[in-house]
Amino acid sequence: MTQFDFLIVGGGTAGAVLASRLSEDRACRVLLVEAGADTPPEATPSDINDTFPSSTLNPDYFWTGLEATLTRGGSSRPYPQARIMGGGSSIMGMFTLRGMPDDYDSWGRRGAGTFSWKEVVPFFEKVEGYPSSAGRNSGTYPVRRTPREEWPAFVHAMERAAGSRGFPFVPDMNAAPGDGFFSMPASRDETVRSTSAGAYLTREVRSRCNLTIMPSTRVTRLATEGRRVIGAHVDRNGMSTTISAGNVVLSAGAIHSPALMMRSGIGDGGALSALGIQVAAELPGVGRNLQNHCYMFFALTLPRGKRLPHALRRFAVAGLRASSGLADCPAGDLMLFMLGRVSGKSFGTDVAMVAPALYSPFSKGRVTLAAADASRHPRVEFCMLDDPRDAPRIVMAARLAESLLRDSLVAASYSEAMLLPAGMAMNQFNRGGLMGACISTGAQLVLNAPGLLRRAAMRLAFKGGKFLSASHSQSLSESDLLSAISPMGHPVGTCAMGEVDDPYAVVDSNYRVHGVDNLFVADASVMPTIPSGNTNLPTLMLGEHAAHKIQRLKL
Ligand SMILES: Cc1cc2nc3c(=O)[nH]c(=O)nc-3n(C[C@H](O)[C@H](O)[C@H](O)COP(=O)(O)OP(=O)(O)OC[C@H]3O[C@@H](n4cnc5c(N)ncnc54)[C@H](O)[C@@H]3O)c2cc1C
Repeated sequence: MTQFDFLIVGGGTAGAVLASRLSEDRACRVLLVEAGADTPPEATPSDINDTFPSSTLNPDYFWTGLEATLTRGGSSRPYPQARIMGGGSSIMGMFTLRGMPDDYDSWGRRGAGTFSWKEVVPFFEKVEGYPSSAGRNSGTYPVRRTPREEWPAFVHAMERAAGSRGFPFVPDMNAAPGDGFFSMPASRDETVRSTSAGAYLTREVRSRCNLTIMPSTRVTRLATEGRRVIGAHVDRNGMSTTISAGNVVLSAGAIHSPALMMRSGIGDGGALSALGIQVAAELPGVGRNLQNHCYMFFALTLPRGKRLPHALRRFAVAGLRASSGLADCPAGDLMLFMLGRVSGKSFGTDVAMVAPALYSPFSKGRVTLAAADASRHPRVEFCMLDDPRDAPRIVMAARLAESLLRDSLVAASYSEAMLLPAGMAMNQFNRGGLMGACISTGAQLVLNAPGLLRRAAMRLAFKGGKFLSASHSQSLSESDLLSAISPMGHPVGTCAMGEVDDPYAVVDSNYRVHGVDNLFVADASVMPTIPSGNTNLPTLMLGEHAAHKIQRLKL
């Protein structure tokens, strides 16, 4: 007899939902295995609870040594992915967007079962927990919109400037998505960040006799018999064991789920054989179709009186969705988001950010194995801007930001605007240790010093940063803009859902891996295309949807 009916690999955004829902049936024995530490309700670390995303900066919550290349043939840079109970939801920036209706309609058109906006809305509603005063449903995972009264002055000015360019205010970007300015919904209640672990692995859920949670345990490979999965090999405190299970659900995220499959012999046969891995199932789509959003940051120094009140530990406050209108490009493909503070430290509210982003990229990269050995990270190549429709659109998003920032109303709300060099945004403002304390004290002094001194200090702190000139005739060059882009933390698509005759489809509409028995994938990797919204809420929705589908299968 197997030890468990379901072994879920990864207690991240989706995995926590699956563990909670599948264990509702007390006859179903569920094991949740998470590589990172646990965050039990009574002992969730304060940086995870913080409604400013302090946990994004804690290296203990991430895979060390994971790297990615941004563009084809570019050099590798560290790429943060969560390794902690709750996964990305425990460390992310808390933006909580569904995306556009056509994102989900297009999944259905591409052969991903019956997916459509109509189908996913009830699952989003099952997730989203608004306060009763919002007149919306009350789901499992607390979500709050930043009230306008909390916006710093530059956000009000941006809204007015956007309004004068024809962008309406959209009261609820999730219920009625479209072009316009909106208050950003965030994954939190009034005082505490929401995580999938906190919302779904509650005390009540954890007390179920049929649910076992095994944190700090890494699945190294699937245990297979021919094309049948029978469990998983795990490593816990340096000890290796094999756990048997009737079914395995991979919820290890869009980098690690395909890597685990490939290491277990499921993937492109030629590539696996070249690494000495015995092929269990030929499935060339595993690791392909990697998609991600890209963005850049304009940092704004804010004068006294125009800052977010220090006590408000808010990050994402508002957004502006726009459409490029370019041929073949979907509506709502551009986003500017506005951050109210850059650090939880005392100087954090002196600086805000406007970040233009491309939310419907066409470029596709891949995840491949560097070696069969489980201790080696997979290779992650985003190949951003490969598709000729992508570079012009991220430039359009940046030009929209430039134009709004130069608007006289907006320009009166900040002192300087600087385009930051790629990869610098949050880390530079949030270093820890002695260096961090020195930066914090120095920043506090400099940010309140006369303009010349402040600008000199910013030039020093952000080498390669470009000040935005007040004059429209001195726009930033296209190459300045393109060299400032970074990948967002939104990898998806590497085990895409699709029909069996699609050679690159990996799972069917019930999240079952094509051609392999007893194996499911349920996380961000099953998305056939990236939604035009940050990916945590869509992944929670998929967790609910997958649980609903799997519970109805006769296994
Ligand atoms: C820095 C950052 C900021 C982000 N900001 C936002 C945001 O503001 N809004 C938003 O919507 N989205 C955001 N995201 C994206 C969002 O967090 C992800 O889309 C989402 O978490 C994906 O969920 P998942 O379940 O697919 O994977 P994850 O949440 O990453 O979960 C995977 C889990 O599996 C575990 N795991 C992996 N391999 C193994 C193994 N071999 N054995 C055992 N366990 C394993 C990992 O430790 C991890 O906990 C951000 C992501 C990052 C990295």
